[in-house]
This record gives sequence, structure tokens and C-alpha cells, in this order.
Amino acid sequence: MTRALRETRLESEPSQTLDPKDWNEVRALGHRMLDDMIDHVAGIRERPVWQPIPDAIRSRFRDGLPKSPSELNDVYREFSDCIAPYATGNVHPGFMGWVHGGGSVVGMLAEMLAAGLNANLGGRDHVPIEVERQIVLWMRELFGFPGTASGIFVTGTSMANLMAVLVARTAALGVSVRQRGVRDEGAALTAYTSKAAHGCIAKAMDIAGLGSDALRSVEVDQSHRIDVAALRARIAGDRAAGLTPFLVVASAGTVDIGAIDDLAAIGALCAEENLWFHVDGAFGALGMLSPVLAPLLSGIEQANSIALDFHKWGQVPYDAGFLLVRDGERHRAAFAQPAAYLRRESRGLAAGSLWPCDFGPDLSRGFRALKTWFTLKTYGTEKLGAMIARTCALAGYLEARILAEPRLELLAPVNLNIVCFRYRSADANRVNGEIVIDIQETGISAPSTTMLDGQLAIRAAIVNHRTDTCDLDALIAAVLEFGARHASASEAPEIEAPPLAL
Ligand SMILES: *Cc1c(COP(=O)(O)O)cnc(C)c1O
Repeated sequence: MTRALRETRLESEPSQTLDPKDWNEVRALGHRMLDDMIDHVAGIRERPVWQPIPDAIRSRFRDGLPKSPSELNDVYREFSDCIAPYATGNVHPGFMGWVHGGGSVVGMLAEMLAAGLNANLGGRDHVPIEVERQIVLWMRELFGFPGTASGIFVTGTSMANLMAVLVARTAALGVSVRQRGVRDEGAALTAYTSKAAHGCIAKAMDIAGLGSDALRSVEVDQSHRIDVAALRARIAGDRAAGLTPFLVVASAGTVDIGAIDDLAAIGALCAEENLWFHVDGAFGALGMLSPVLAPLLSGIEQANSIALDFHKWGQVPYDAGFLLVRDGERHRAAFAQPAAYLRRESRGLAAGSLWPCDFGPDLSRGFRALKTWFTLKTYGTEKLGAMIARTCALAGYLEARILAEPRLELLAPVNLNIVCFRYRSADANRVNGEIVIDIQETGISAPSTTMLDGQLAIRAAIVNHRTDTCDLDALIAAVLEFGARHASASEAPEIEAPPLAL
């Protein structure tokens, strides 16, 4: 201990606790914050979806580290004036840009309760961990996994996919890989996914030390589903070349157009070839909550592991990703580590092993489970499933409006809740890019773009439970208006091209 520390005189120092002097004052302000935030969500339609950040606002966030205290009131005012109005916009029903959930007031309140408890879910014996375990139990039930399956909350599906790659790697090479590193056997490992898969899978291979080159991007069919015959041929080719195929990552809802791979066929192929079968079900896996959508996911119950996000279709506030692993022992073998300070006991606070820290890279972890638990319990799976199915019905409505409008062109089949289309124009990529930015900047709606076969598509992903037909009508009207403005008079739209045959 340094002298300065030793000489800090406890009696003469005023109390340094961070608790307020006047609890009633903070209570009143807290109630106001709660009221304001409830108003913010309840009145979300009256505001723009998103607005560009003024320079004066942005520059406030370049100020240095605050040394002296400020009144909570003033800090809260800064939040209300400078932060809240310039958020992403995914709470708004007009947000369709990326696969973002809308959140809910139930999740928001639960997040406040979780912050009050300030529980650390790395381990030890307390009910917050039982809440997380109950969600593991519910996910086993939803996906038809056995009682020995394990699960864990993580930030998001990017992390869950990375962890699945690590579990599959350890299963393929044996636990000694954790001491020895991947070495030569690791260099021979190859994994497979489709060209339409999310980029985080290549990143996971990279971070896992296996290299993104070891991930084969297999061709897709017309509907963006992996070509299972091509997958089989690719595996055989790699085996013939002396490589060691170990993992197939199937997509249950691609991010571009919402395609779901043929999970049953991939499951059968993986069983035959003795490969780890992982499903990236970031948003699509929760389609299991809807009896209408669940058949599309048939085969998911055969997976060795599933990554999913409660913060997308599940509407749980960010962040709430989840990994479910069929063989809990294999999952544990990839991450558990002995440490003196993490000693387990059969009673007392250090009881209740196994702990979540045995199933992932994190030690300290927040109580993500609580907002998910509140969401599932308050709404129930039937209502959540119906809400999810409704976003797909809304995509169908948008598709029908596009097919009925000669100035618009559908660019991909509508599988689930994602619609890709464009305004017809001779200079379509430029015009549609401009249209999307204009719509975002006016705050009417927030679509995004994607490239499909060299064609720039306006992409509307309907994920938010608040989105309704009026929001889709507003999007169409805005696309037509800005489209007419950007397509110059000389380039009359070519309307002879038929809509995409589905
Ligand atoms: C969103 C998404 C991811 C990434 O998940 P995060 O929660 O953003 O980390 C991966 N795959 C698919 C298909 C996604 O939609």
C-alpha cells in the first residue's frame, strides 16, 4: 500500500459513498425519467425514424474526461436533448433497414430491475442464475433438445457463432487443442456455409485461428438456400485432398432475404459425414414460436448447436444473444478452466456449479436473462409467435404492393419478413442508392440497401412488432416520390420487364 493511501484519514474524510444524500430527490427524478421514457416509446410515431446528427451535437461528445461532479438533473437533460433524439431509430415502426428488434416497455422495465440488482452471472449460487437456467430449459423445449443440452446468454449471434466454432473445433481436435493450439491438424480443418451466410461466420473462423480461407462458401439456389448437392461435393473434394471437414453452418433466415436452408437435408448429411451441424438462427430460429413458421425450420432439432438473438424477432432490448448446444459436456469442455479464486463448494455462495463462466469466455456477465424472462412470461409464446408471423404477413403485403406497381420491381423472393426491391430506372443502382439515403434523411422510414447479383436493392426487413401496413404504404409512397425526382426526365422507367417469377 502506498503512503498516500495509508494516510487517507477515514474519520475526517466526508463519506465517499456514491449513494445520494437525499433519496427523495433521486426518487422524483427517477420517476420522471421513467415517465419520459414511457412517453418516448408511446409517442414514437410522432418523431422521425432517424435524423442526421447536427455538428453541434456531435461535438459535445468530443469533450474530455469530467473531473468534477455535475447535477444528475443536468446530465439527464443532456441525455434528453442530445442523446435520445439521435438514436438508431429501431424503436420506430418505420425502421426496416437492418434486422433490428423494436424492444418493448416490458423489456425496458426489466432492464431497470436487473440494473438495480446488479447481479454478476458469471457464477455462484443465486436465483438470477436459475433464471438464466430456466431460459436454457425453455430453449431445449422449443428446439426439441435433450435435457443434457447447455445454453448461455452472450452479446449476440456473432459471439454465439464464434463460440460454436470453438466448441466444434475442440470436439474435432480433442481438448488438448486448448493447450497445444491448433497446429497441423488445425490447418487441415475445413468448414462449410452458403454464399448467403452472414459475414460473422468467416470472422469466427478467423478469430478461432482456423482462418477464413478454411470456410467454404457453397453456392445457393434461386431462393438463396444452400445447394446441398454442391455442399456434399465440396466436402468429398476436400476429403479427397487430405483435408478434415468438421463443421457445417446452416442459415435459418439469411440476413439479405431471409432464406432458410434445408435444415433436415443438412442434418442428415452432417450425421452421415460426422460433421458438427451448427445453425445460425440469429433472427429466424425464433420462428419456432409460430406454428405457421415452425415447419420451415424442420430439421433444426437435429442441430449440434444453435445461435440466436432474442434482441431481433424476440423484441428483447439489446443485447441478448444466445447459444444452445446439444451436448452440454462438449460445450463445457471447450471453455471450463480451473482457477483458485473460482473454487466450487457444495454449500454457501460458491455452490451451484456448473457456472455460466464454464460455458463461455466471459467471467463477469450481466443479467440479460431477466429481460428475456420477463418478455417470454409477460407475452407468452403464442402472442410472440403471432407477432413474428405477422411481420411475415406484412412482408407479403409489401410484396403485393410492389408487384402491383409498374414503376417498382421485386428483386428476390419473399421468404419470410424481408423484401428486396427497386425503383425501375436505366441508372438503377445510383437512383436506388439515392432514394434510400433520402428516405432515411427525411425520417419517414429507414430502409437499407443490399447488393443482389450486382443489382442494388432497397431492403425492407420487417422485424419491429410496431410496424403496420401504413408504414409500408409510407415507404412505397416515398420510394415513388424520390424515385421520380432522381430518375431524370430522359430516362423513362422501363416497365416492360416482368416481375421476378417466383
Ligand atoms: C444479425 C445476424 C447475425 C449477427 O448477430 P448479432 O446479434 O448482430 O451479433 C448473424 N447472422 C444473421 C443471419 C443475422 O441476421
